[in-house]
Amino acid sequence: MQLDDLYRRVIMDHYKNPRNRGTFGDDAVTVNLNNPTCGDRISLQLIVENGIVKDARYTGEGCSISMSSASMMTDAVKGKTVQEALELADRFSTMMKGGEAQFDDYEDIEALSGVSKFPARIKCATLAWNALKKGIE
Ligand code: ZN
Repeated sequence: MQLDDLYRRVIMDHYKNPRNRGTFGDDAVTVNLNNPTCGDRISLQLIVENGIVKDARYTGEGCSISMSSASMMTDAVKGKTVQEALELADRFSTMMKGGEAQFDDYEDIEALSGVSKFPARIKCATLAWNALKKGIE
């Protein structure tokens, strides 16, 4: 998979130095999802209070795309309202379909835009975001 150099650096930074990796314990909303085609799995935990995503953490294992996406997603949604978090997830899915999408609030996410050209890897990138949507429901 050939990605732009700068983008690849951002992705590898999140993969090697994951943000928000860990768990909160049993009280938090927990979503377990996996992507069998690549072997990625994620356990996402959310703390949602008064319609705001107060905090997000994840554990799991998988390829650099799936894990860096989880790192970015958890960072990006922290402090956002549930509406804003869902709007981010929609924007991400637009980007994965090759559409125009900007993330001025968290530019690292744009590093994953190149994944839209590799259909087999899109499920890797969207895994964490699907877990987010499920968790918010
Ligand atoms: Zn993967």
